[in-house]
Amino acid sequence: MQIQSNFSLQKLNSFGFLSYAEYFVSVENELELSNAIEFATHKNIPWQVLGSGSNVVLQDFLPGLTIQMSILGKKLVSESAMHFYIDCGAGENWHDFVRWTIEEGYPGLENLALIPGTTGAAPIQNIGAYGAEAASMIDSVEVLDTKSLQKTQSITEVDLNTQQSWQVIPKEECEFAYRDSIFKRDLQAYVVTQVRFAIPKKWQANLSYAELANYFLENKSPSAQEIFDAVVTIRSQKLPDPTLLGNAGSFFHNPIVDLATYTQLKEKFTNLVSYPAPDLLGEKQFKLAAGWLIDQCGLKGYRVADCGVYEKQALVLVNYGAAKGSEMLDLANHIKQTVFEKFGVLLSQEPINLP
Ligand SMILES: Cc1cc2nc3c(=O)[nH]c(=O)nc-3n(C[C@H](O)[C@H](O)[C@H](O)COP(=O)(O)OP(=O)(O)OC[C@H]3O[C@@H](n4cnc5c(N)ncnc54)[C@H](O)[C@@H]3O)c2cc1C
Repeated sequence: MQIQSNFSLQKLNSFGFLSYAEYFVSVENELELSNAIEFATHKNIPWQVLGSGSNVVLQDFLPGLTIQMSILGKKLVSESAMHFYIDCGAGENWHDFVRWTIEEGYPGLENLALIPGTTGAAPIQNIGAYGAEAASMIDSVEVLDTKSLQKTQSITEVDLNTQQSWQVIPKEECEFAYRDSIFKRDLQAYVVTQVRFAIPKKWQANLSYAELANYFLENKSPSAQEIFDAVVTIRSQKLPDPTLLGNAGSFFHNPIVDLATYTQLKEKFTNLVSYPAPDLLGEKQFKLAAGWLIDQCGLKGYRVADCGVYEKQALVLVNYGAAKGSEMLDLANHIKQTVFEKFGVLLSQEPINLP
């Protein structure tokens, strides 16, 4: 494990912002991870975890220790009558993992193909796309409980397995919701080291998302591989490739509103794009398409210096070259304010600001 100082993170964030970590380390196993956190605790400096940097807005300088999660490994660990149980290291690339599950005969994650990032970040915001969410196939999440780690003496390889700091959090306790979980609400509490998936043995195509259903109008029973390929094709057409044009996917959540707000908006804006959302305490809720709200404000393609709203999808903010994290946040604030003035709806940001 090598701790480096003044380390460039430009290639480690999908926006491609020029940003430097005061200290940087890549951890390949649990011992290295606990040593890294101890290093930061001992020096009394902050720390943060980075996966592939595809859902973060980095400022020019990250004080303290930036820990890149690089724990690898994936395998079938057991099976029941109903499920395959598969463990995947937090540093594994998510898309490669999805492809591997299909190749190995454990289909189910195909709707989530091509989402950039690591598997360890999947539970953080409960990644979702094309009518599916990671939470539906997560069994449990293995973490380092950093608060209890700080109370213990230093960890050695011998007692690594017996430490209380390593916990397995069952899915029911992860409080998964739309782009949310206990992990996202307190990023300093846990570091995800491994995710256990429970993939149903009885596979069923999920074509609940209209665009995917349209793709298969002439093929009523597509295979998991065909759905995987379709998702890759559709996503590649819609979203900019971060290696060519820096971005973090959707920059805003689709806002969820109650029935009264929805009714008012629908009366005023008859072409409002919305979807039914799960009820809250028995009350009806609706999800509004944030991209549509931004588009209606005339902001699609809007650009300030090197920060812009992607011309094909208003939900995506892009870095045309030399944008800074702070400039992107200025643009995001302008968008939020404009949408609020027109619709009275407050957009919330999806990527996480570091620091
Ligand atoms: C082109 C594009 C398309 C996208 N499409 C989607 C989409 O369809 N659906 C969707 O949900 N998301 C989407 N995203 C967002 C992103 O892919 C996901 O949020 C992904 O899970 C981020 O993974 P990461 O490894 O890059 O996390 P990072 O960006 O590195 O980190 C995100 C946050 O999680 C924390 N974190 C990361 N790893 C760990 C860990 N092991 N333990 C504890 N905390 C951790 C970080 O501290 C940070 O706060 C898209 C992004 C891009 C660039």
